[in-house]
Amino acid sequence: MAQKRDYYEVLEVHRNASEIEIKKAYRKMAFKYHPDQNSSDPQAEVKFKELSEAYGVLSDSQKRALYDQYGHEGLQQQMGGGFDFSGSGFGDIFGDLFGEVFGGSGSRRRSAGRAGESLRYNLEIEFDEAVFGTQAKIKVPRYKSCDTCQGSGVEAGSKPEVCPTCKGQGQVRFQQGFFSVSQACSTCRGEGTIIKNPCKECGGSGRLREEKSLSVKIPAGVETGTRLKLVGEGGAGSKGGPPGDLYVVIQVKEHPFFQRRGNDIYCQMPITFAQAALGADLEIETLEGKEKIEVSEGTQTGDLKYLKGKGVPHLNGYGRGDQIIELIVVTPKNLNERQRELFKELAQEDGDESTHDHKSFFSKVREMLD
Ligand SMILES: [Zn+2]
Ligand SMILES: [Zn+2]
Repeated sequence: MAQKRDYYEVLEVHRNASEIEIKKAYRKMAFKYHPDQNSSDPQAEVKFKELSEAYGVLSDSQKRALYDQYGHEGLQQQMGGGFDFSGSGFGDIFGDLFGEVFGGSGSRRRSAGRAGESLRYNLEIEFDEAVFGTQAKIKVPRYKSCDTCQGSGVEAGSKPEVCPTCKGQGQVRFQQGFFSVSQACSTCRGEGTIIKNPCKECGGSGRLREEKSLSVKIPAGVETGTRLKLVGEGGAGSKGGPPGDLYVVIQVKEHPFFQRRGNDIYCQMPITFAQAALGADLEIETLEGKEKIEVSEGTQTGDLKYLKGKGVPHLNGYGRGDQIIELIVVTPKNLNERQRELFKELAQEDGDESTHDHKSFFSKVREMLD
């Protein structure tokens, strides 16, 4: 087998070319080497295939990364031998490029492969798993490629046959008034080939149901509604079509004590009348154990305390939010005799004699809030 050329060389782009630059280069060169434009040059078709293969890899970020790291050989191994690049999604650019230019000239062969479905998986995780991240094991019901026929749908030893109705074009033309109209062939459903001996394992679809166990890394800082995309982990494509993607959608369980507020963790802490009036050192729960906070003299319900950096790590960056503690002063109930006496004394000390009260309602409110 001839040595494969470097994909970047084939497309004549830099190794760090952007997606758009790669797409542009491909359009330009595909146009130049398209077999319809070069029917007399046998090299053109070879070049065109080489080009399509290079684009199939470099336009797919996952395959491109593999190729950058391991080269041709590594890519082949990672993707499984015999991976068919012709079905790897360059169909769309091919269509919008040549569809108009060549007026659907009939020589344009559509890839028979059909892309697999993208799937959604709803994953419920614990509050602290969302904060610190976790490794989740999930089971995804999906289609896999049939091993027996390697996804082709054809029984071993036989081949798909050229569709007799459309002669392999996938399209049939007919005259309608002045116009020549083309339509997807109904015999082969536009695939250009028919399977006379379907694979017994998959009934000719090229796919089988499976329940795939996956281990998914959940990054620290996710919240309800966060969507993680696992490229290529959706349903298998059929007949060389690319697989779909898997979207894991996060649902975070409620915590009895903590609430998420963006990247901050909010909680409430009850304190007694005496602690509020005199001040106190208290212990508070965090997700990483107990911490001390200092309640200052004269604390009111609604006063906030902050534990810097004890909140949620930023999902796409550095640093963490805070833990916010709202202090709630609890009025004592069911006083015993001694407590009742003490409160009465306190009331006298405050000069709270409602019958001799000359102050206006508003000035009292103002005093209390000062
Ligand atoms: Zn099969
Ligand atoms: Zn047909």
